[in-house]
Parts: sequence; structure tokens; C-alpha cells
Amino acid sequence: MTADAPADPAAPAVHREHARVVLRHATSTPGAARRFTRNHLCAAHASQALDAVLVVVSELVTNAVEHGQPPVVLTLICNVEQVVVGVHDSSTSEPRPADGDVPWYSETGRGMQLVEGLSVHWGVSDEGPGGGPGKGVWATITLAPA
Ligand SMILES: [Zn+2]
Repeated sequence: MTADAPADPAAPAVHREHARVVLRHATSTPGAARRFTRNHLCAAHASQALDAVLVVVSELVTNAVEHGQPPVVLTLICNVEQVVVGVHDSSTSEPRPADGDVPWYSETGRGMQLVEGLSVHWGVSDEGPGGGPGKGVWATITLAPA
């Protein structure tokens, strides 16, 4: 944002802001991630999307802590009509195929059907925290109609 840009009275009271936190790797981490989310969504996004965003944050962070490798990094992007939740962790290896499991971040993975129901789209990238090794799971939540 530039200081000399004129205020646009028609602009929605929402922002393109990023909030990012490196989470501890602990059972209490999903709760800490939810508190961080409550504190960092702007008022407009919080009033329209908070519940959905909290569920998505909770699912993604819980899975990243249970199955991924630290550091787990939560990113929130307030993006005019949407909130984008990103959770990165450093694991490139779970789950082991020999376990006969699907990765938690696959379509049929635990929690992801919930995320899919609350987001307009979601996806997985092979970038870990800070662009290093690992993975990132992103989900985009649109605002409820006014
Ligand atoms: Zn916002």
C-alpha cells in the first residue's frame, strides 16, 4: 500500500493482508492457530467467514502437526472476497505407502472432505515453509453473501 494513494470510498473494508505464524509442534497447536486466526482476520472477513475459516485452520493445522514435520507455518491472506488459508510443513515423506494409507492431504484424507465442503477450492503444493522442502496445503474460503 502506498501512503499517497487516495482512499477509495467504494472500496470494501477488507484488505490484502498476509499474516503468518510459525506454530509450535504440540497438541495445543490447533487451539493456538485458531486464536491467531481470530486475532488476524480483519473485521469484515471475521464477520462473514470466521467460523468456516476456523474449521479449515483447525483441520489443516491438526493434520500438519499430527502427520507433518516442524516447522508448521500458518498463513492467512485477507483477499477482498476471500480468505486464503495456507499450512506448510516440512515433511516430504508421509504417509509411508507401505502403511496402505492415503496422505491426509489427499481428497479422501481425514478432514479434507470437511475442508472441501467449506472452501471453493483447495490444493497441495510441494513447497514447504519458506519455499523449502515440504508441502503446503491451501484452501480458499469465500465470504458469505451479505
Ligand atoms: Zn480481511
